[in-house]
Formats: sequence, structure tokens, C-alpha cells
Amino acid sequence: MNSIPEVTLSDGKKIPQLGFGVWQVEDEQATPAVAKALETGYRHIDTAAIYGNEAGVGRALKSSGIARDELFVTTKLWNDMHHKADARKAIETSLEKLGLDHVDLYLIHWPSTVKHGDAYIEAWNAMQEFKAEGLVTSIGVSNFHEMHLDRLEGESPVIDQVELHPTFQQTELRRVLDDRDIRTEAWSPLGQSKDLGNDTIAKIAEKHVRTPAQVIIRWHLQLGNVVIPKSVTPERIEQNFDVLGFELDQADMEAIAKLDEGNRLGANPEDADF
Ligand code: NDP
Repeated sequence: MNSIPEVTLSDGKKIPQLGFGVWQVEDEQATPAVAKALETGYRHIDTAAIYGNEAGVGRALKSSGIARDELFVTTKLWNDMHHKADARKAIETSLEKLGLDHVDLYLIHWPSTVKHGDAYIEAWNAMQEFKAEGLVTSIGVSNFHEMHLDRLEGESPVIDQVELHPTFQQTELRRVLDDRDIRTEAWSPLGQSKDLGNDTIAKIAEKHVRTPAQVIIRWHLQLGNVVIPKSVTPERIEQNFDVLGFELDQADMEAIAKLDEGNRLGANPEDADF
């Protein structure tokens, strides 16, 4: 079986560089999808309270029989739960649904400043307590820009999970995160499948006798991103994991670097109103 590389976080913990995302997967559908992913070899699952599928993910984790310390589970604190007492309720609910006594990584899902002002700072302080209590092993953020990172107190987040794919490469933010020893994790790494039809990606895929999805995942790995492609299709779940047997060369990497066109698919964290 493939052995997925691990990335060392600034708190000394390790995260499998390739994980499995489950946004927009119904709770019922999450169980077979995650079961298939675990059977394929994925050990890192990315969910969130707002996805409504933590229970479905938890059922698959439990029935897999895989030892807890071999699994890496991420979930996220939703925007309306940033105040301290709410955040505690949120992590307790997530753990109960997942059937776990701790998650490996807990993220603030969005800074959500338009709707909730500075509350994310309170959430960050609460998360440091959850870490000290062992409810969560590592703590990080998602959809944070430099202006949001600047306002956090205490520990530094180990990861920032942000939209990142070939047509939206986040070059400047990646540099900011590197400078702060914060790992970059790419959400919508395939551009929600829209980047798969790109001609340059298709040519590189043809050259390596691989699929466009494999080329894009390989690109993320070679850039150093943690990457969490989503699929509910068994063949694609396998295909997206089979990315260790080839390497993109410098010309491939340079050609993909030119595809950045600022093609943001999700909300801009600075004006997201949810
Ligand atoms: P992705 O970029 O992973 O793309 C998923 C889409 O691509 C699905 O339609 C899937 O189809 C299709 N697909 C997957 N593999 C292949 C393949 N090999 N060939 C062809 N099509 C393929 O999008 P997501 O938005 O789901 O992002 C991934 C994960 O990132 C999420 O699941 C979630 O965990 C996380 N995320 C986090 C956010 C945040 O705010 N922190 C926001 C958005 C996502 P199908 O499933 O039908 O096979």
C-alpha cells in the first residue's frame, strides 16, 4: 500500500499530507464514502460541524477497526459558536457525534468578522483551553488572512486551511503562512472539479499517463500543501490516493504555476457575511 507522507506541524505533531474531505456529503452517504477511503488507505478525514455529517463519519471510523492513533480527524468550529461557552458546547457535540474522545485537529472554520466581529479571538482562546484539556490535539484556523492571524493571542495556529487550487493559488498568503511557520492546507484542491478540464493540466496528465485529478493532487503535494480532495465515487477515491508513483518535473510545476487567474470559488474571508 502507498505510504502517504506526513507533514510536521509547529507543535511537533504530524498530519498525513493527503486527506479525505467530506463537504456536501450527506450524513448517510458519509459512512460508505469514509469507509471506502479508509479501506483505500486514507487515514486523515476532514469534516466540520456545519457539514452535518460528523455522525456518519464517526460510524465509518468505528466500524473500520483502525486503531485511533493511526487516524487523523479534523473538525471545525462553526461561526455562530465563537463565544467561549458556545465553543465548548460545540466541541463536546462534535466529539459525541464523531464517537471520539479527542480530535487531532480543531479549526476555527471562518473568522466571520462581518457577522460576529471579534468573537473569533474568544474562540481561539477557548481552543487553547480545549487543547490543554486534551479534547483536541492540535489547533488551527481556516479562511484566515494575515489581518486575522495578527489578532490572535497566545499560541500560533499550526495550520490555515484555505481555498487553493491551480486557478487560485494563494501565492502571497502561502508566503505569509510559511513565514509564520503555519502549514498551508488546501480546500477545494481540485477547484470543485472545475480545474480538471484545464488544457495544461490535461497535457501534463497525458504525458505522465495519469488523470488530471492525480496531476493536481501531485502538484499540491510537491508544493508542500496538505490536501483534502473530496469524492463520493469509489473509483475516484482510489484514484486520488494513487499519487505516489510519479512525480511532476520542473517544467510541469512551472506550467501549472502559470494557471493562477484569481479564480476564487468560495467567499472572500474578509467580506463573508455568514
Ligand atoms: P474538491 O476540489 O475536492 O472537488 C470535489 C469535486 O471533484 C466533486 O464534485 C467530486 O465528484 C469531483 N472529483 C473528485 N475526484 C475526482 C476525480 N478523480 N475525477 C473527477 N472528478 C473528481 O472540492 P471540495 O470543495 O469538496 O473540497 C475538498 C474538501 O475541502 C471538502 O470536502 C472539505 O473537507 C474541505 N473544504 C473546506 C472549506 C473550508 O471553508 N474550510 C470549504 C470547502 C471545502 P464526486 O464526489 O461526485 O466524485
